[in-house]
Amino acid sequence: MMTLSLTWGLLSWLALAAPAPAPAAAPGGGTEGVPDGLRCLREAYPDAFCGVTATSLERCGGGALPWDDGREKPDHDAILEDPDLEEMMRQRYTPFVPATAPPVDFEPGRVRWTPFFMALYGDSRAAVRKELVPVPWLEKCGGTVVQFNRRHGAAAALAAVERDLARELPPDLCRLAAKSSGTFNWRTVRGTSRRSLHSFAIAIDIGVSRSDYWDWNKPDAAGHYRYKNRYPIEIARIFERHGFVWGGRWYHFDTMHFEYRPELLREPCVGREGGE
Ligand SMILES: [Zn+2]
Repeated sequence: MMTLSLTWGLLSWLALAAPAPAPAAAPGGGTEGVPDGLRCLREAYPDAFCGVTATSLERCGGGALPWDDGREKPDHDAILEDPDLEEMMRQRYTPFVPATAPPVDFEPGRVRWTPFFMALYGDSRAAVRKELVPVPWLEKCGGTVVQFNRRHGAAAALAAVERDLARELPPDLCRLAAKSSGTFNWRTVRGTSRRSLHSFAIAIDIGVSRSDYWDWNKPDAAGHYRYKNRYPIEIARIFERHGFVWGGRWYHFDTMHFEYRPELLREPCVGREGGE
């Protein structure tokens, strides 16, 4: 509290001395000068982050993660390769709407800063393995048990998804959703050196028989991929309800893929229908 009152004193002094508002420290969140995306990150993982400033996310155990690395990236590929938190939160995910072809390179959630996920879920195969818990998966429709990361509400959110899928899906869709092609797998994204979120056991692939993947297709003359989706939106909407994003809403689509990203599904960070 000492540090807090000292900071506050300094900020009040700055506010008197300078006409421009000073960036405010906000240990509780919600103070002016803190970008929306940073606030959503803080609020989505309350047991990991105990404070936020205008430029960083403060870890509860000490240390901070920077919001912006201050480097301009030339294009979307460069952002995917080497993003920061600000770029990770830049595109807004719109849940519950019908599936439509996203604009080129629009894929909220596909930009991921790996150190962030390592800090939250474990920084090696062995470290993540220690956090795995079993989640029964649609056993009434022929499914089995999957392993998911217990930290930060991930496994609990998957269990809530399972409960709703079991309750709400008609039998044919329940059988489709029951077939999982995997959760935990310490690996990179196909064809890249970037770490897949399956590495952290916070992603699940289900219903492969109706899935489509951008890289199974050839681009057109302009180098663009045509959107394809045969996946039932009912399943995606139930995942979205519990803090998961769906790979079917990405320009580089991966329609059987869901990952736990509650920061993208809370106000004021969610997108609006018709907007980006
Ligand atoms: Zn996947």
